Amino acid sequence: MSHVVIIGCGVVGAAIAYELSLVPGLRITVLDSQPPAQASTGAALGVLMGVISQKIKGKAWQMRQTSIQRYETLIPELEAIAKRKIPFNRQGILSLCLAGEDLADREKLLEIRQSQGWELEIWDKAKLQNLCPQIDTKNITGAVYSPQDRQLDPTALTLALVEAAQHNGVTFQFGVTVLNSQTSPPFCHQLETTAGQIAADWFVVAAGLGSTPLTTQLHQKVDIRPVLGQALQLHLEHPLGNPDFQPAITGNDVHIVPVGDGDYWIGATVEFPSNGEEIPPNHELLESVKQQAIAFCPELAQANIIRTWSGLRPRPEGRPAPVIGKLPGFNNVLLATGHYRNGVLLAPATAYAIREMIIPINSQ
Ligand SMILES: Cc1cc2nc3c(=O)[nH]c(=O)nc-3n(C[C@H](O)[C@H](O)[C@H](O)COP(=O)(O)OP(=O)(O)OC[C@H]3O[C@@H](n4cnc5c(N)ncnc54)[C@H](O)[C@@H]3O)c2cc1C
Repeated sequence: MSHVVIIGCGVVGAAIAYELSLVPGLRITVLDSQPPAQASTGAALGVLMGVISQKIKGKAWQMRQTSIQRYETLIPELEAIAKRKIPFNRQGILSLCLAGEDLADREKLLEIRQSQGWELEIWDKAKLQNLCPQIDTKNITGAVYSPQDRQLDPTALTLALVEAAQHNGVTFQFGVTVLNSQTSPPFCHQLETTAGQIAADWFVVAAGLGSTPLTTQLHQKVDIRPVLGQALQLHLEHPLGNPDFQPAITGNDVHIVPVGDGDYWIGATVEFPSNGEEIPPNHELLESVKQQAIAFCPELAQANIIRTWSGLRPRPEGRPAPVIGKLPGFNNVLLATGHYRNGVLLAPATAYAIREMIIPINSQ
């Protein structure tokens, strides 16, 4: 029986563990220095920008398509095992078009998506005002509505993935940090961890920002750098607009995410390190995200701030996100990292890709 060790239990490592747990004949162990769904995953808003994204071809679109399709089956599958609901907003994503934006690009995207079998709708100002009266359309020309895109709670998802994987026999060891490895390239044989040594046939590095020290150790540095995101949760006494139609709203890179009971997640800032690796949260940037949300939905000015938080997104330096594939020089070390702004969206497709590398589909 092949033994697979996954390093990291954010949404990516947990999705891989669950997907591999469906393959007979694998022994799977997941290691994380923290409990599940901390790090970047614990800060994410869970907006799944698939059909509405600007990616139209190649691997970037394929992965998005695979993920949005898989989520429709994955969520009920996990809910049945975990016996609880995962907050999964099926009311779509509404992308606001700001004055001065070229509508031709939106129309072109709609045509492309139609040819790919996906739906998008272009709404003029009147339709937008009618269906989403919470939006101040002063500086907005219309919107693109994407009914097949989704938003979910990334922490609830990750915890359900862990529970379902455990149910299928996967072992999780939390509070265990991977320190070093024993290799004779092109193979890695075992890892040294704070809980002793662990040998395996395959090693999957799903360690987000922790992937850089791990790969440096293996003399094949994969440079993943942090990009800070701050967000906040606002509470209103009643939901914005129509209580029965609460899509995630996005405009000018600011998301307004309904999470129930009059609560909304608003975010997120995109902050790069100014010197070295340190990124002190810039409060003015968070305030400007909040003000942008208020400009879209003026009622939010009356909301109370329930909490604010921040997280570091793992962004690959000098190459496109994410980084998925064999670590150069090794046959049994797989990378599933550097998902930057779309790790929740791309977790199911990443899990498929890793499964395919370990067990090619035609041999399953
Ligand atoms: C504010 C914010 C908003 C976001 N919104 C969205 C969104 O709307 N949609 C979306 O798709 N994405 C979003 N993202 C991005 C998303 O959060 C990330 O892409 C995703 O969480 C990456 O998941 P991961 O599992 O690779 O990494 P992480 O969640 O960072 O997990 C990595 C894990 O590896 C562990 N680890 C590291 N090194 C070691 C080691 N040596 N030994 C043991 N364990 C180790 C860490 O403890 C950690 O638990 C957002 C991010 C932020 C910060």
